[in-house]
Amino acid sequence: MTTFDAKYSLLAPGPVNLHPEVRKALALPMIHHRTPEFDKILKKVLAGIKTIFQTTQDVFLLTSTGSGGMEALLVNVLSPGDKVIAINSGKFGERWAEMAKAYGAEVIMIDVPWGKAVDLRIVEGTLKNHPDARAVLCQACETSTAVAHPIEALGKIISAYPETLFLVDAITALGAYPLPMDAWNIDGLVAGSQKAFMLPTGMTFVSLSSKAWKFAEKATTPRFYFDLRKERKANQAGETFYSSNVAIIRALDVVLDMIQKQGLEELFKSIHRKAEFTRVFGQKLGMMLYADSPSDSVTALVVPQKMDGQKIRLHLEETHNITIMGGQDQAKGKIIRIGHMGYIPDEDMVRLIECLGHTLRHFDPGFLSLDHISILTDEAKLWLEQNP
Ligand SMILES: *Cc1c(COP(=O)(O)O)cnc(C)c1O
Repeated sequence: MTTFDAKYSLLAPGPVNLHPEVRKALALPMIHHRTPEFDKILKKVLAGIKTIFQTTQDVFLLTSTGSGGMEALLVNVLSPGDKVIAINSGKFGERWAEMAKAYGAEVIMIDVPWGKAVDLRIVEGTLKNHPDARAVLCQACETSTAVAHPIEALGKIISAYPETLFLVDAITALGAYPLPMDAWNIDGLVAGSQKAFMLPTGMTFVSLSSKAWKFAEKATTPRFYFDLRKERKANQAGETFYSSNVAIIRALDVVLDMIQKQGLEELFKSIHRKAEFTRVFGQKLGMMLYADSPSDSVTALVVPQKMDGQKIRLHLEETHNITIMGGQDQAKGKIIRIGHMGYIPDEDMVRLIECLGHTLRHFDPGFLSLDHISILTDEAKLWLEQNP
């Protein structure tokens, strides 16, 4: 695989293609984080990122992958023995529940069938039975199934419980579609650099509501690296507590500038358009949507019967230099997942449809004719022209 080929396209639901301007920022000479030059950037980024979280609260920039941010939320607001309601609708829901257990929480699991969004009545019922639950955990988008959960409605329900926090893993949502933290009553929100923030892997961004900060003052879970109280103090002094991730924070500055110039609504629209395109042409290629409430950040398509999603994924990469993802666990082999975050020029999307067509044909020549593939490719170009 020639990943330096200009035509290489990383269409996974994270990590994602980097914008050329981001790549330039990442190539800059290193500077020390305790310098006036970096102080200025940090100050600007700490203020700017709040507009993506749509919060008046502090947002923290932590050096770790997204899972570290998920852990940061738990350890800062929970105490061992606390009851936690975990919405488990796929790989990442399962991970967060396990993490909570590892820190001594008593986890009440709401198991949601893969590909489905959580049923609000079940959450309401579970909260009624467990009004002493200290938190409800949910993914905004469960990346393993490409489902978007009804976060606004959940926030409304949970906000009626003064002793319960609503913690949201928005690693493939925040920055991809609307998720206003304050307006939707979200108490803990976590994002990841390599997903909707269009950066390399290595940072996570988290924020707590004022309700959650009250919990943080009383929480007794041991915490050190992810102690947000230390980070908050350091930020107030214009620093990060540990060495700043200079390279990614400088690149984040570029991303935030680009989003500000484009407008958050326009960014959401452009991602929605790519999702819509993929849903339309994925189905035209003979595949069904896996998610009943599909996310705009990633699309999961059910591969044709008798075909193997893992083989489709590999062929697309080896033959066409396009990386998408397959399914995990119970969805392994059954689905392919295509990400819509990051830098994706229209020509890459057309190429995706054309190459997917050829890949399906590679595994079953009777499934799609060459003529059909070329008609669909033309239709894809036209669709993008007509839906700018
Ligand atoms: C990718 C992802 C994570 C894990 O992030 P890492 O950066 O791999 O630790 C967690 N939750 C969701 C929903 C994700 O998509």
